[in-house]
Amino acid sequence: MIAANVNSTTKAQLLEGEAVANQIKQQVRTDIERLSAAGKPVPCLAAVQVGNDPASAVYVRNKIQACAEVGIKSEHHALPESTTTDELLALVQSLNASDDIDGILTQLPLPKGLDETVVIEQIDPHKDVDGFHPINVGRLALGRPQLVPCTPAGIIELLEYYQIDVRGVNACVVGRSQIVGRPMAQLLLQRDATVTVCHSKTRDLAAVTREADLLIVAIGRAGMIGREHIKPGAVVVDVGMNRLTDPDEVRAMFGSAAAKRLEVLAKRGSTLVGDVKPGDAMEVAGKFTPVPGGVGLLTVAMLMKNTLKAATLRRGL
Ligand code: NAP
Repeated sequence: MIAANVNSTTKAQLLEGEAVANQIKQQVRTDIERLSAAGKPVPCLAAVQVGNDPASAVYVRNKIQACAEVGIKSEHHALPESTTTDELLALVQSLNASDDIDGILTQLPLPKGLDETVVIEQIDPHKDVDGFHPINVGRLALGRPQLVPCTPAGIIELLEYYQIDVRGVNACVVGRSQIVGRPMAQLLLQRDATVTVCHSKTRDLAAVTREADLLIVAIGRAGMIGREHIKPGAVVVDVGMNRLTDPDEVRAMFGSAAAKRLEVLAKRGSTLVGDVKPGDAMEVAGKFTPVPGGVGLLTVAMLMKNTLKAATLRRGL
């Protein structure tokens, strides 16, 4: 159960993602070694990247690297910016048809002009390791999940790792995207939390979020959630990943603790921050996921777990 309150001098416990991600990857590695030793096929992930977006290139590289770490085979399909929807669909269909491929991920966002929905719906649901296909979304909504989006599934693993029981608690998810907010709400509901979903049209957001024992924030706005949004002692999970490049914004977000971040900014040209003001969360929340070092590390680990799961289900391993 979640702690009800905390006194004003207590600092929140940090819920760090690294140990959780390592444990997930270690389990996948062990399972793959076992399959391999039994002469069973090793799962293979096909990563499809279209265009030259530098952030997408980093994400795909990290995913391919994680495959190598856990012993999953991988294929990287890098297509030019000029790729048409028909060309992309032809690749997806050939990956669907290949028995060697267990998981297909299309790195989003796709370049302008390519229809993400059409592409996602073409992926064989059995190979949909991102869990975005309507069949997998529907299964989750029905309470019979198979392949679940990696970020919310990773948050569930994080909560379990830190033995945070969500049953019966007031959980509030801020954000209703297909990638994070909606599947997150479904997963919590399935675990018997009482779930409220907020979005950009929610009236008096702070009044709603302040009721939450478990507050999960996936908005995409640096530091939007502050002390006025947080119930004392609550568990706060910050999914946001925003890059700040302006020193004034860094100062506004970190206050007197900005020096370290300003150093990062000077060195790298940007610093990664969440949707929650970390100083406020540390003072008011009971437990809090840092950015970086929290949820971000779990998404790739869960992609490995989903690829193994897709292979296991499809091949009957
Ligand atoms: P998204 O598709 O842009 O959705 C944002 C959601 O926030 C929408 O539902 C939107 O409401 C809501 N919102 C926007 N402004 C709001 C406001 N003022 N008050 C309340 N709600 C508001 O974003 P996303 O893909 O879910 O990602 C959210 C954040 O998580 C981003 O920073 C992203 O980079 C990060 N992320 C991190 C990971 C990871 O691995 N850590 C993975 C995925 C995403 P409406 O629906 O009404 O527009």
